[in-house]
Amino acid sequence: MIDTHCHIYTDAFDEDLPAVLDRAADAGLTDIIMPSIDLNSRAAMQRMYHDRLRFHPVAGIHPCDVKGPTDEIALWKWAGEDDVVAVGESGLDYYWSSEHISEQKASFRFHCRMARELDKPLIIHNRESTHDMLQILREEQDGRLRGVWHCFNGSVEEGLQAIDTGFHLGIGGVVTFKNAGVDKTVSMLPPDWMLLETDAPYLSPVPHRGKRNEPAYTALVAVKLSALFGKTLAEIDALTTETAKNLFRI
Ligand SMILES: [Zn+2]
Repeated sequence: MIDTHCHIYTDAFDEDLPAVLDRAADAGLTDIIMPSIDLNSRAAMQRMYHDRLRFHPVAGIHPCDVKGPTDEIALWKWAGEDDVVAVGESGLDYYWSSEHISEQKASFRFHCRMARELDKPLIIHNRESTHDMLQILREEQDGRLRGVWHCFNGSVEEGLQAIDTGFHLGIGGVVTFKNAGVDKTVSMLPPDWMLLETDAPYLSPVPHRGKRNEPAYTALVAVKLSALFGKTLAEIDALTTETAKNLFRI
C-alpha cells in the first residue's frame, strides 16, 4: 500500500516520528510519496529513514507559497534529480491565497513545463479553482503531461475531464466524511484511475477527523474504497498500488 501524498517531513511529526513510521509499516505501507511545500522541504525530506519504508521526494512550490517569482533554476535542478519521482505540489488555491492568482497561474504553468520536459508526473493541488485548473491542464497537455489531482473533491463530470486529460484522482480522508458527498462521486468514477493518499498531517479520515493525520490512516481510505466498489481490501490495495507504481515509476 502506498501513501501517494504525505507531508511526513514537516515538524508536525517531530515529537514521535519513529512511532508514526512504525505504525505506517504495520498498517501495510511500503512507500510514501512526499510532495514539497517549497525549496526548504528538500533538506527535511533527506532526513527521512525507516527500515521497512521507502520515501520518495517530489519537487515543487505549493500554490499557497507562491507570493512572487519562483527561483526557477533551483527548482528545475532539484526536480531533475534522480530520486525525485514527481513535480509538485503545484496548482491553484483561490481559497487560502486569492490575492496571488496571476502568480499562482504562472507557477502552475512552469510546473507543467517541468513535468513535461523531465518526464515526471505532476501532483496538483486545487481549491475552489477547478475550472481554471482544468483549463490550464488542457492547454498545457501536449501528450506528455500526466499526474494526479490530489485530494479529489470535484464532480463526476470534472473527475472524468481530469482522467480524459491524463490525470489520476488522489483519494484521501475526505471520502470518509459524512455529508461531504465525495464518497458518492468517487463511487461513480473508475477505481483504476485512483490513488490512495492521506495529505498528513491534514485531513484525517473518520474516526480521527480533526486530529493530526498520519500515513497509517491510508488503510482507512482503502477500507472506504473497498466498501464503495464492493471489492476486498486486498483488491483495492493491489489495484491502487499498481496504479501508483506505474504513475511514479517506483
Ligand atoms: Zn499536500
